[in-house]
Amino acid sequence: MKKIAVLTSGGDAPAMNAAIRAITLSCNYHQLQCVGFYHGYNGLIDDQYVEMEHFDVNPTLQQGGTILKSARCQAMLTSEGVIQACNTLRKHEIDALIVIGGDGSLRGLQAIKQHWEKQVIGLPGTIDNDLSGTDCTIGFATAVTTATHAIDKIRDTANAFERIFIVEVMGRHSGHIAFNVGIATGAEAIISFENFSADRALQKVTELLKAIDKQQHTHGSFLIVLAENLWPGGAQALKESLTEQGKVDSAICILGHIQRGGSPVPEDRNLGTELGLAAVDAIITGQDNVMIGREAGKVIATPLEQVINTAKPVSAHWVNAHQQQLTHYLK
Ligand code: ATP
Repeated sequence: MKKIAVLTSGGDAPAMNAAIRAITLSCNYHQLQCVGFYHGYNGLIDDQYVEMEHFDVNPTLQQGGTILKSARCQAMLTSEGVIQACNTLRKHEIDALIVIGGDGSLRGLQAIKQHWEKQVIGLPGTIDNDLSGTDCTIGFATAVTTATHAIDKIRDTANAFERIFIVEVMGRHSGHIAFNVGIATGAEAIISFENFSADRALQKVTELLKAIDKQQHTHGSFLIVLAENLWPGGAQALKESLTEQGKVDSAICILGHIQRGGSPVPEDRNLGTELGLAAVDAIITGQDNVMIGREAGKVIATPLEQVINTAKPVSAHWVNAHQQQLTHYLK
């Protein structure tokens, strides 16, 4: 009987559980053995595992986080660590490994492939949506929904006090969350990797002050959605620049990890389920060294090499849509 292993790695993302559940149930259906390794790649290094059965996963569809736990694993960045992970896979006579995670986790999977002869399949599990080979990553829709609901609440209080708010959202080094959330909440400004560079910070502050001035004549709030890891000094530095250069006071809200948690929205549960089932099918049909994703409604397999080395920019259409909105305030 074939034995399939699964683990979740890197930042946890809502609906990783849906993918684990689908993999386990599909293994059950196809009479394959399923083993879960805990705490990302640490589970392979330290040999922490669990035999997966349908009763372990059935109640997990609506739960955020991951029942297999997730973690970063420094040891995987050394060849000794990778070899140790491969030895654990050999010890358990694993025939195929499925890793659910972001681009770092898929790099780890590639490193394993270099020292292990069996099949490896990646699934895109990250709230950041920064992986090519899929329109959306598992967890992205939930993160966008959570951040949108949070910002809607901030908007209420901002309106009441006619306040300027800087709301920092996650995304690591990409603007998918910033743009999707910013457009969904009608943010007056979205500052992200796609429309900002550190050497233009001063110019950006001037632009913002002009837009804020115009907006305040209409007695409204002004919402700035800021991507994390972007502005030199972060949201606090932007707030101070607005005060220093324009005598403008603003409030800060860093949404942080609430974007990673929570019950997954149906879109994510279904994506996790679809890709989890497809991952097992891919193993059965002999595919190897690929990530399974969904593009334009179709499940597709893309070589890991290509996924890792191809950027997925935010659509120019989104960036322009926002630009038009902002220009409205600058006229
Ligand atoms: P997210 O971006 O959503 O947090 P991620 O999978 O990109 O998810 P990382 O922290 O970049 O998160 O990577 C997760 C783990 O993958 C690392 O802790 C490490 O164990 C492994 N990993 C990352 N890069 C490599 C690499 N180049 N070689 C081997 N393993 C790697």
